[in-house]
Amino acid sequence: MSTKRNTLQRQIILDTIRSLDMHPTAEELYLEIQKSHPVIGKSTIYRNLKQLAEDGAIKQIVMDMDGVVRYDKNPAPHNHFICETCGRIFDIDMGLDDDVVGIIEDKYGLKINRHAIEFFGACPYCTV
Ligand SMILES: [Zn+2]
Ligand SMILES: [Zn+2]
Repeated sequence: MSTKRNTLQRQIILDTIRSLDMHPTAEELYLEIQKSHPVIGKSTIYRNLKQLAEDGAIKQIVMDMDGVVRYDKNPAPHNHFICETCGRIFDIDMGLDDDVVGIIEDKYGLKINRHAIEFFGACPYCTV
């Protein structure tokens, strides 16, 4: 397989992750990519996801509750809400106030550079 084709497939996979408003599993991505690029096989997708995560283009998240690996299109630090019913992950772009961070730093004698919070509960799809 040529390098050019590899690069193209990687770009398609990356574009697909970025187009989805979710944190897909490799399986979910595969099904989505199948719609437009049925020639791209599962092993290609798995291999490229691993590579993209190593390159820092995306982030790999392993869920504590079910051990399922999901992929995050946003590699920058941000917070998550995790639905305990369906396992969907939602980005929460609100963090702790600087006040709160300062209080924690003072209390424990820390210098906090960043934080990541996980909220758990029921998502809008599961509260109806
Ligand atoms: Zn849910
Ligand atoms: Zn996220």
